[in-house]
Amino acid sequence: MTPPRIVVVGAGVTGLSLAYTLQEDARRAGAPLSLTVLEAAPRIGGHAHSTRVDGFLVEAGPNGFLNREPQVMALIESLGLGPRLVEARPEAKRRFILRGGKLCQVPDGPATLITTPALSWRAKLRLMYEPFAPGPPAGVEETIHEFATRRIGAEAAEMLVDAAVSGISAGDSRRLSVSAQFPMMTEMERDHGSLVKAMFARRSKGQGPSKLLSFDEGMGTLTGELAARLGEAVRVTAPVRSIERAGSGWRLIVNGGDTVEADHVVLTVAARGAAPMLRDLDPVLASSLEGVGYAGIAVVALGYDVSDVPRALDGYGYLVTRPEEMATLGVVWESSLFPGRAPEGKALLRVMLGGSRRPDIVGTSDAGKVDAARQELSRVMGVTAVPRHVSVFTWPGAIAQYTVGHQERRASIMDRLRLHPGLAVCGTSYDGVSFNHAVKSGRLMARQLAQQLWGDERQPAA
Ligand SMILES: Cc1cc2nc3c(=O)[nH]c(=O)nc-3n(C[C@H](O)[C@H](O)[C@H](O)COP(=O)(O)OP(=O)(O)OC[C@H]3O[C@@H](n4cnc5c(N)ncnc54)[C@H](O)[C@@H]3O)c2cc1C
Repeated sequence: MTPPRIVVVGAGVTGLSLAYTLQEDARRAGAPLSLTVLEAAPRIGGHAHSTRVDGFLVEAGPNGFLNREPQVMALIESLGLGPRLVEARPEAKRRFILRGGKLCQVPDGPATLITTPALSWRAKLRLMYEPFAPGPPAGVEETIHEFATRRIGAEAAEMLVDAAVSGISAGDSRRLSVSAQFPMMTEMERDHGSLVKAMFARRSKGQGPSKLLSFDEGMGTLTGELAARLGEAVRVTAPVRSIERAGSGWRLIVNGGDTVEADHVVLTVAARGAAPMLRDLDPVLASSLEGVGYAGIAVVALGYDVSDVPRALDGYGYLVTRPEEMATLGVVWESSLFPGRAPEGKALLRVMLGGSRRPDIVGTSDAGKVDAARQELSRVMGVTAVPRHVSVFTWPGAIAQYTVGHQERRASIMDRLRLHPGLAVCGTSYDGVSFNHAVKSGRLMARQLAQQLWGDERQPAA
């Protein structure tokens, strides 16, 4: 019997998690499998890419994940990477926002809520009123901003939530759907009538706050290990241009005309990258995929002598509130966050620029991005020294934007795919934008495929 031919398009963490999980399921089932992962870039990992330069460990994209997604923890366990996990330092719980040109601590409990200048007294009182805030309006899909304003008041929605949304998704809280982007928030409200009550309920069940984790050599540790386990199944510099039917299966046109045949194809690339591949096959599907919007981000990593940084790096870093009108979305004090990010006596700062607030900056030259990052760093933190290390990463379509209507758009994509058996999509354009969501999405897709191929009833390989 010829083994089923599976092609995964994209070797980011979604595609690699999918392929590895399926490979492990096949091995355990003793079932033959022909597996290929096609990656456009000359390297694997997509956004998850870590490099050590001049002694600094620089992340091009994600720098950590929360320990609350069982699929991710199971994957790490299965790869034997548990001993390489590193936990964020306790001081990293301290986070700041830039408001009125000053760094103000984000309240994380009653004591900091009283003392912080991040909010006015009026806003603090309004925030405390949260358990009594009105419920959601019937039949309306609220934006994050509407939800936050209703629950915690306009000032906290603007200063804390909008800034956090820019930090997490580079997006605009006034456009993103709360139920699509932060379903946990709407579930907490639905189940407990209040976010504060929901948090107390979690704590009383012993569910404390999640831990922020990475690996000793950064997030690329995971993608690197996945790719190593997949070996020659992964082909880099293999951009898929288009996909067409071939009998009961599929033909993928790669690069200048090379073809790969498959029984099942899974596109783990961003929806906006999948659309051109499918335009000839199904223009309706392609246009639904194009309906998912993206925000771009530029990352400027700057390494300094600690003595060149006038301010104590005593926390995670800061987020910039919208009224500051900066190109910077936020700055992560990487060397304070995780151990081993900078040599002794050095500090590593990662400046995130652009997002939906300042899309123009993503299109400027690297020198322009470094200038913008340094100028704004000097205004906020007084850092004027020439950096010892500089890296720039530009991600024009960094993060999917689940604007109002996302769930309908997603449903229409999935409905349309039913016309094309053997063709599927997964990844962060659909069910969550974080690293955890990416891994979960890949693993659940592997599970679905395993069921189709072998009627496998087991949970994804752990
Ligand atoms: C700057 C930045 C910071 C982030 N920080 C965090 C964080 O701290 N924590 C967190 O949880 N999440 C973070 N994220 C989000 C996180 O990076 C993503 O959720 C995750 O990496 C997405 O992985 P993916 O495999 O779905 O997509 P990608 O990483 O985009 O991988 C898709 C792959 O498909 C390839 N591809 C595209 N087109 C084709 C084609 N035609 N043919 C073949 N291959 C193709 C691409 O080259 C790429 O390698 C961040 C993202 C960015 C950009």
